[in-house]
Order: sequence, then C-alpha cells, then structure tokens
Amino acid sequence: MGLISNRVQRNEIKPGDHIYTYRAVFAYSHHGIFVGGSKVVHFTRVVNESYNHTTECPTFPDCGFRQPNSGVVLSCLSCFLRNASLYCFEYGVAPSVFIAKVRGGTCTTAPSDSSDTVVHRTMFLLQKGFGNYDVFQNNCEDFALYCKTGLLTVDRLGVGRSGQASSVIGAPLAALLSSPLKLLLPSPVGVATVTAGMYCISRYATDIGVRTDVVKVAVEDLAGNFVLRRNEDVVAAQNVIIR
Ligand SMILES: [Zn+2]
Repeated sequence: MGLISNRVQRNEIKPGDHIYTYRAVFAYSHHGIFVGGSKVVHFTRVVNESYNHTTECPTFPDCGFRQPNSGVVLSCLSCFLRNASLYCFEYGVAPSVFIAKVRGGTCTTAPSDSSDTVVHRTMFLLQKGFGNYDVFQNNCEDFALYCKTGLLTVDRLGVGRSGQASSVIGAPLAALLSSPLKLLLPSPVGVATVTAGMYCISRYATDIGVRTDVVKVAVEDLAGNFVLRRNEDVVAAQNVIIR
C-alpha cells in the first residue's frame, strides 16, 4: 500500500482486514470487514432492500444473509465490490502520514486488534445487529472501525466516530463558512485551499486514534443497548454547508 492509494488485490487481503470500495464514482466509500472465504460483513440501511443479494448472487447461497431488521449483512466479495476496486483501510499509521493522505477516511492512527478478535466481533454483530444506520452517527465505516478496534466514542461532540460525517460537515469548516471571515478570503481558489486544509485538520481531530473521548467496549456489552440519536447540531451544520 502506498502513501496515496490503499488499493489492493483480492489475494492480498486477510480475514479481519477492514476493506472498502467507492460507490457512485467516488461519491462515497462503502466499508466492511473481510472475514475470509470470499465473504465480507458490512453495515447498511435496513430499509434499502437493494442491498439484499439473496436472489441475485449467482455464486453463494448465503450471500446477502442478515438477521431480521438488522443492517449487518454478509456478502460475497464480488457483490460487495460490484466490479469496483478494492482498498484496504490502514491502522496504526503515524500522525504525519495521516495528515498527508489526500483523501481522509482511509486510515487511522488507532491500532487494530488481532484478526481473531476482529472476526469474532464482526460475526457477533452479524448475529446481534449494530443499531440503526445513520449516515451522520452510525454508518458502515463506524461499524468497521468498531470491529477493528473495539473503540466507541462517548459522543457528545455532534460528529460521527469515523469522520465520514465530518468529511461532509466539518465543524471548523461550517464555522468558517458561516462567519464573516469568509469575506477576507481573496478568491474562489483561496477558498478551496483553505477549506481543504481545514478538512484535513478537522478529520485528524475526529480520528478515533487521536480523540480522548473513546472507550473500549466489549462486543458482548454492545449488543442490546446500542442507542443512537441524531444530533440536531449536526443537521444544522449541514444546512450551513448546503446553503
Ligand atoms: Zn454474492
């Protein structure tokens, strides 16, 4: 894996690896945990039945398996990738490397647990579920990050654990755009430069390996009391950006 791209081949990944692919021409990334045997466990919206591959997969009868009302789905690698490229999420990277990454959300400074532990957590959540999917508070990247590290944030900051939400919003960026400071920026080029820098900084500040408000939670304790809420401040911040 190089500094710029984490792209890998199918025969390079191992059980317990956090993998991802890009959907809709780089519009967003979709994340999962490779559990071996050409299978990926990933977290999706329950309501989106297009993720149900049960009747579509030509290769694996159990592809698309999920518990009723659970967004945690078992798919084969081919259905997960949909012919797109495969990437491997990096753990335990140095902060300097993290900052240098062109795209945020492809690595973390947090260390991964052992592959056995990761696969155990993942298969446990396939049976027990992972709460409600919420693009801002609980998404596929959060699921994979939790399976890899066991870390959850004590979340009162209004940002998701993964930074996928902050890449859309970015609290410092929202503050910048809504403040009179933007009038001081010289040109559209200047705005783009500043916002890219702000993006990197905010992404780093929300990295699960950097934040101090994270706790290690055993997967057995997680199931059953996984209560998630939408933060009104996040929605408000998003509206600032859209305007
Ligand atoms: Zn399949």
